[in-house]
Amino acid sequence: MKLNINNTFSEELTADPILENSRRQVKNAFFSYVTPKKTSSPEIIHVSEEMLQEIGLQHGDENSERFLKIFTGNEVLENTAPYAMVYGGHQFGNWAGQLGDGRAINLGEVVHNNKRWALQLKGAGETPYSRSADGLAVLRSSIREYLCSEAMYHLGVPTTRALSLAISGDKVLRDVLYDGNPGYEKGAIVCRVAPSFIRFGNFEIFAARGDHENLKKLADYTIRHFYPHLGDPSKETYIKFFDEVAKRTLETVVHWQRVGFVHGVLNTDNMSILGLTIDYGPYGWLEGFDFGWTPNTTDAVNKRYRFGNQPNVGLWNLYQLANAIYPLVEEAKPLESILESYKSDFEEKSLEMMRSKLGLFINEDGDAKLILELEENLELSETDMTIFFRNLSKFTPSDDDGIRIVQDSFYNPEDLKGEIEFKWKEWFQKYKKRLQLEMLGNDERAKKMNAVNPKYVLRNYMAQLAIDEADKGNYSLINELYTILKNPYEEQSKHEKWFAKRPEWARHKVGCSMLSCSS
Ligand code: AMP
Ligand code: MG
Repeated sequence: MKLNINNTFSEELTADPILENSRRQVKNAFFSYVTPKKTSSPEIIHVSEEMLQEIGLQHGDENSERFLKIFTGNEVLENTAPYAMVYGGHQFGNWAGQLGDGRAINLGEVVHNNKRWALQLKGAGETPYSRSADGLAVLRSSIREYLCSEAMYHLGVPTTRALSLAISGDKVLRDVLYDGNPGYEKGAIVCRVAPSFIRFGNFEIFAARGDHENLKKLADYTIRHFYPHLGDPSKETYIKFFDEVAKRTLETVVHWQRVGFVHGVLNTDNMSILGLTIDYGPYGWLEGFDFGWTPNTTDAVNKRYRFGNQPNVGLWNLYQLANAIYPLVEEAKPLESILESYKSDFEEKSLEMMRSKLGLFINEDGDAKLILELEENLELSETDMTIFFRNLSKFTPSDDDGIRIVQDSFYNPEDLKGEIEFKWKEWFQKYKKRLQLEMLGNDERAKKMNAVNPKYVLRNYMAQLAIDEADKGNYSLINELYTILKNPYEEQSKHEKWFAKRPEWARHKVGCSMLSCSS
């Protein structure tokens, strides 16, 4: 097993000189060296074959003793020195000060096929940033991160990825419901992979401390390695950098809205500087289409991170990043105008995205209204987002009964009467007329719609079923879901049972509709 190690973050940026693994404020440094905790009887339970190849390993390497040891924290790769990054963040709208990698340890970076990948163990033990927690992760949240990040990649959503999922053999104490009833759960470690794990919060911590020298070093490092096309460091380059981060963030948010993904904790420490979806915690998938839905119980009152607010939160977080990098630019105007264009770009990109979900490829003035009316209808009675859009591709301008075509998406078909039925009929009439203006034939339109409306997503109850099985030592459902979610836009008729509405038992079950940050 040979990896082409090529560390830049830890080579080019300043290390915390203190090597002791104690909780503390770390200043004038970008990271602290830390060794992963030894695990008692680790076992790899799944490996992403694709990521294995991406980082330059071979099929079969995952079965070696070394692979097991390295990716569960029991051995350190030669020529590397693992470390935890320092960052800060705004949590639920408030500045939270220093946070940092409290339970993530970076093993190092590899370069393969001209691509750079940082490898990071999540749940590998305490770091100087663990604050009051243990640096560990439980099996349930690790399965959720592992399956979802790979699924998002295959959906075409920018995301961090995952190489391996392992159980540690150690027990971890968690209070899932935050109700004073903690219990022991199986500990687990995911090896996550991304070009870089730098977050908005890495910039914010230096700005908050008035450390403009390190702020500049971080910006220059990030641009040099990840935005090299922007040119050498200068005010103009920093503005272009911010512009591109804003555009990438927006693009990712629009993808979330397209597939019905709700992140759940969009704090600025969970915002990737590369615009990737990062930190899969109490996320959820929309079942009933509902702009007001949030999976995160910690956010149940204010619903800051509800589905419909993700675009605004993306912008709010970009304001924090703009404030953080302001000392490098010293001019508010250009940053403000980028933030302004996020708003208009969002309108445009969102409309374009919704048009594609409806199979509308020419631009018509009434489209925004048609889409708005659809969204209103989807909220009239609980309607499964994934099934609705997937089945909508079967509707053609010669059909008179649209409701029948999408009927499987209604959780309570008996609601479809009176006013609600009338509104749907009216909408399908308008949609039918609108489709008549399109050039594409029905089959071709359906094909294009099916390429943006997934058939399979990681429904909340699906992940929970895989977790329940895995808790009993059976990992086959993890593999089954992993395999299906690699082709989310394909019909895969033998897996049709996963193209179904959430079963009733999952409606109020912990882990399915209610998720906490306890992980
Ligand atoms: P999150 O809300 O999961 O993004 O986490 C916010 C902060 O808490 C980050 O600095 C995490 O590293 C830290 N954190 C979360 N869970 C743990 C844990 N079990 N042990 C140590 N730090 C944690
Ligand atoms: Mg986080």
